[in-house]
Amino acid sequence: MLSKKKIKKLKRKHPLLEDIINTKEVIWFNPKYGENTTHNELNISKKDIVEAEKRLKRFKPYIKEVFPETKKNKGLIESELESIDAFKEDLEKVCNTSIDGALYIKRDDNLPIAGSIKARGGIYEVFKYAETLALKNNLVTKDENYRKFASNKFKTLFAKHSLAVGSTGNLGLSIGIMGATLGFKTTVHMSNDAKEWKKTILRQKGVHIKEYDSDYSKAVEQGRKMSEKDSRSYFIDDEKSTDLFLGYAVAALRLKEQFERKSIKVNKENPLFVYLPCGVGGGPGGICFGLKKVFGEAVYCFFAEPTHSPAMLIGMMTEEHNNISVQDLGIDNKTAADGLAVGTPSKFVGKIMEKYLAGIYTVQDDILFKLLRKLYKNKGIKLEPSALAGFPGPAELKFSSFYSRFEIPEKNIYHLVWLTGGSMVPEKIFQDYLLE
Ligand SMILES: *Cc1c(COP(=O)(O)O)cnc(C)c1O
Repeated sequence: MLSKKKIKKLKRKHPLLEDIINTKEVIWFNPKYGENTTHNELNISKKDIVEAEKRLKRFKPYIKEVFPETKKNKGLIESELESIDAFKEDLEKVCNTSIDGALYIKRDDNLPIAGSIKARGGIYEVFKYAETLALKNNLVTKDENYRKFASNKFKTLFAKHSLAVGSTGNLGLSIGIMGATLGFKTTVHMSNDAKEWKKTILRQKGVHIKEYDSDYSKAVEQGRKMSEKDSRSYFIDDEKSTDLFLGYAVAALRLKEQFERKSIKVNKENPLFVYLPCGVGGGPGGICFGLKKVFGEAVYCFFAEPTHSPAMLIGMMTEEHNNISVQDLGIDNKTAADGLAVGTPSKFVGKIMEKYLAGIYTVQDDILFKLLRKLYKNKGIKLEPSALAGFPGPAELKFSSFYSRFEIPEKNIYHLVWLTGGSMVPEKIFQDYLLE
């Protein structure tokens, strides 16, 4: 908890805090963007991302075996890249401005197994842990077919170990489903915003749910504490896990291929602008990091947060990172975008983002719902509220000097809105969203 004196000082230094505290929509441009600093790199490089991709590749035969819906993609957990120019007019109406350039969406709402962006990082870290245990117990070598992981020998081994995670819902879904399928004793520590239907799915899979009447940070803290008491328990720590981060980063290698397959050339003259909904920061951070390693100066990444949960924004802007929370500023962290309802940012993501992230903007919940309804009515796409936060991005930039500062021709831009979740939302809940 920051002192009153400290907060007063921060407010004087960062006038934008005034609007942030009043939960107004804001956009912040990262003053350090593009600076060639090398500190805060955490020793992660492109090589680690390639390594992570290889690990996921080894698990493809296993994934295909236990999740038949992944058969058509041969066990690859990946989403489509789609053009959605036909939605531009709707977007312009909701955001009250015209949008130049081409509009694309990344369909992580459709990712198999967990139906959200968490199917990238969460599942990756569970695999990494399972592989480490299996190698240590001589059950497999890296050259063998990993379909073996579905056999009883592996399940017997994993049943002696526990996995735990703290979550607002989606990370729990991804880790819970994968962990339980492999045979781990899995516990998900759920914050008060977690949706009942997500708990139901997990209980059906045999996952143990611990519920808390507090927000995400508390659920993570409690889960971490309980896990530490048990030497056979592995805690997947969303506030500081580099494995989660790397699992997300793999998306960048895949996206590059997808653009190439469409014969679209992304370069400095035809840059890619990516808009990523942000909670604790691991998902969007990992993807942004990967994209900068793959596309370099040709990509500009922006994070989107709810006006009531601007955790990463205040952390990066004040450079206090996880020392500051939205609650310190009197903001309530209450939003219908439950996937983004995080009050304290990741311990390390904001620091890495210092040189990679172009900026962060905030969105009001009612805009998310307006977009949710329009996207469903006109394009038939069903999303959860969090997943729409990327859409206002192009409009947010419109009236800034960002394009002229970087001499970017607006007409040449590929805007990519990252849709982060939705395909598992039950019909009845979705109908309620339409009435919001
Ligand atoms: C978790 C989540 C995000 C953001 O990921 P973080 O790693 O928490 O920043 C965005 N959208 C949805 C739907 C999510 O579940």
